[in-house]
Amino acid sequence: MDADIVVVGCGIAGLSAAAAAHEAGARVVVLERAPKEERGGNTRYTEAYLRMNSIDEVSDDFEEKLALFGGGHLDPSLVDLTSGGRGDWPSILKSMSFADPDVIATFAENAGPALRWLRDKGVRFDFLPTAFITTTTPRLLPIGGGLAMVEAVCAYLEAQGVPILYDTAARDLIMREDGGVGGIRATGARNKPVVVNARAVVLACGGFEGNQEMQARYLGPRALFLRPVCRGGNYNKGEGIRMALDIGAAPCGDFGGWHAEPIDPRSGISEPSIFIFPYGILVNREGKRFTNEAPASVDACYEEITRQIHYQSEGMAYCILDGKITDVPGYHRAIKTDQPAITGNTIAELAGKLGMPVSVLEQTIASYNAACGVGTFKALEVDGLATHGVTPEKSNWARPIDTAPFQAYPIISANVFTYGGLKVNPDAQVVNADGEVIPGLYAAGETMGLFYKTYTGSTSVLRGAVFGRIAGQHAARMMNQ
Ligand SMILES: Cc1cc2nc3c(=O)[nH]c(=O)nc-3n(C[C@H](O)[C@H](O)[C@H](O)COP(=O)(O)OP(=O)(O)OC[C@H]3O[C@@H](n4cnc5c(N)ncnc54)[C@H](O)[C@@H]3O)c2cc1C
Repeated sequence: MDADIVVVGCGIAGLSAAAAAHEAGARVVVLERAPKEERGGNTRYTEAYLRMNSIDEVSDDFEEKLALFGGGHLDPSLVDLTSGGRGDWPSILKSMSFADPDVIATFAENAGPALRWLRDKGVRFDFLPTAFITTTTPRLLPIGGGLAMVEAVCAYLEAQGVPILYDTAARDLIMREDGGVGGIRATGARNKPVVVNARAVVLACGGFEGNQEMQARYLGPRALFLRPVCRGGNYNKGEGIRMALDIGAAPCGDFGGWHAEPIDPRSGISEPSIFIFPYGILVNREGKRFTNEAPASVDACYEEITRQIHYQSEGMAYCILDGKITDVPGYHRAIKTDQPAITGNTIAELAGKLGMPVSVLEQTIASYNAACGVGTFKALEVDGLATHGVTPEKSNWARPIDTAPFQAYPIISANVFTYGGLKVNPDAQVVNADGEVIPGLYAAGETMGLFYKTYTGSTSVLRGAVFGRIAGQHAARMMNQ
């Protein structure tokens, strides 16, 4: 096939790229690994919280948080150079693995316009209840979640006659003699080769959360205990990242990191999350506490805590609650699993059901209970009701676990998406290891690298919409030059 622009992936990033490029007059083809009924990757399954004060304005801390978690211990002499004109940046800075401040600024500036553009395609937005009982930042939601976004933009593309090739997985980039990208080689049903010659390629095919080999390579052997948070993540096998690295693209984003979300491993539903642990305690399989369960509002600390869970034996912990949990208004919103709690009328009975040493769990809970402070429990605010004299401490909502029935939920870390990806400039163009643009190659969404260590929550769908749209517009504009 021939096209002006081939877009790989049918999530929010790919769909935004395809629609924007089509609107700008380009002949677009979309490749999607999944069958039509499962199109849309992670986007299909997310509720898609958006870190927005309103449809037009990002949260107050948006750029600050992205910059704060924008790298490791960066060399200040290089970071200082970012205050100068981009044209004067040395090549090592242009290709450096960190969150480029111009990319962050572009992200913030274009979030509102991208959402308004999606609204024009039929997606409606509102502030709706979330799984977080306490929050630090506003979250706007598309009504109907990510699925509503996928269906709205797919309907637009279908009405416009833009072909979407399902069951077709991109494998390799076709290179032109002048060093630019000239299309893509893919595999269709029954391993049939598919070749699309194009003047630009937008890689929007997710991270590598669906690829055990890449996860073990980049995240380490404990990746065995991770799994995608939903079915859609299994389609994201990292080819977009791999094929671009193979032709010399610069990496960006934390290749050792992933967005960690606490889920119930017993459940097969999408996103069976457990966000209730700040009101109880977490113990490992040995029956011991290992972390402060409530250092802050749950939305601001769950990822760090989930990472701690991942480092326990078998990558697992149990959240232990007592009968007082029903005092917490809306507590059921924070328990999305479809599996019942494991219950006991005594701690010993519960420990027996969990296969834990009874005396250890009894001792853990007795020490914790003895350390619970005196004060007023306020479920809906960070109440400062802390433990005293137990390690690890618990900073908030520290009430004794003393009222039957005692309940437990197992928790593992899901790999919602991986952080390692491709280095892009503010136009979503992929740059090579020397900071030079690779002509005709773009990346958006999870395929582009941006996050390090701690995810700035509720920005991944936005990232896909913003940089997908920018990639499509820029690629179409470049054709006319
Ligand atoms: C359950 C869940 C809850 C989440 N909650 C939030 C949230 O509240 N807020 C937020 O901002 N983010 C959230 N996220 C993360 C966010 O949804 C995703 O990171 C984002 O939607 C990714 O968009 P994308 O277009 O980059 O990738 P995806 O939506 O995953 O799309 C990638 C597409 O590429 C296709 N593909 C993969 N490989 C190939 C290939 N080789 N060839 C062709 N096609 C290929 C896949 O089939 C898929 O359609 C959540 C994710 C999940 C799963």
